[in-house]
Amino acid sequence: MIRLKFLIAINFFSLSVIAQSNYKRALQLMGCDFEITVVAENPEKGQAAIALAVDEVRRIERLISSWDPNSQTAAINRSAGIRPVKVSAELFQLIARSKKISRLTDGAFDITSSSMDKLWRFDGSMKHMPTLQEIESAKAKVDYRNIVLDHEKQTVFLKRQGMKIGFGAIGKGYAADKAKRLLVENGVKGGLVNASGDMSAWGRQAGGDDWTVAVTNPLNKKAVFAFFPLRDRSAVTSGDYEKFVEFGDKRYSHIINPKTGYPAQGVISVTVLAPKAEIADALATSVFVMGVEAGLHRINQLPGVECVIVDDQGVVHRSAHLQAKKL
Ligand code: ADP
Ligand code: MG
Repeated sequence: MIRLKFLIAINFFSLSVIAQSNYKRALQLMGCDFEITVVAENPEKGQAAIALAVDEVRRIERLISSWDPNSQTAAINRSAGIRPVKVSAELFQLIARSKKISRLTDGAFDITSSSMDKLWRFDGSMKHMPTLQEIESAKAKVDYRNIVLDHEKQTVFLKRQGMKIGFGAIGKGYAADKAKRLLVENGVKGGLVNASGDMSAWGRQAGGDDWTVAVTNPLNKKAVFAFFPLRDRSAVTSGDYEKFVEFGDKRYSHIINPKTGYPAQGVISVTVLAPKAEIADALATSVFVMGVEAGLHRINQLPGVECVIVDDQGVVHRSAHLQAKKL
């Protein structure tokens, strides 16, 4: 008995002396900046784990990219108004969950907003405001209720010709969750996937500290106004300060209000904290569309979900139960 105790003590000791460090890699994935950090015993193990995560994100990109003509998503869009398309269970479920979030947000989140991609462009090629008629005809293709899902046949059908789906507002969050899950399954004890501001964390840093996310005010980028510990949680920020066009002195963001066909107004940044990056990503976009009042109201009804909103006057609003390190 005494001997057994002794053995356990030795074992415990040898486990605790294996030094762990944070290993990090920054790269472009899904057309944006990714940074993956893992806790590992040595650089080889760290980089091998990161490589697993990178492959997983690339796999998801091939599935959900609407730009890649070989993706299942592109096949769905090409067949809009023509025929249903059989897809993988993974894509089918992602679309089903997207529709659920549309219902939850009264249509503020809508993956068929992509039908307006040609009208509102944020790559510098837009020279004038779209006409009312252009808005109306593009808007007619936006409605998540026109995504027909056949659970038995696992097919997706977009009812109207010219209709499109896109995962710009949920895909990075989904990819961050999946990369995290794969690393957890592979025994990585702690890590942080940062998909251009879509953060998904688990465990702790090598030194034992929590992973934290800093929220800044876009009107005063240097001043961090809140830190949140990320304990097995995700934080996602949607903002209008990176992708936008300006006409007159008005700024038009890349987040579209599906009901009006115009970019959402009144809010410049939304950070959502939630157990998963996928829902945080989708809700950040939704709150941007819903605005301060309706957005806070909806977030306050969702257990485990919190948010910080900066309105276009630079005023910071936060959900009812939010706990920050400093605010
Ligand atoms: P980012 O992470 O780039 O800040 P979001 O997560 O808010 O942005 O997603 C914005 C992208 O989602 C847009 O570029 C567009 O492709 C798509 N999108 C725009 N408006 C909506 C909407 N109301 N619902 C769902 N997707 C949208
Ligand atoms: Mg989003």
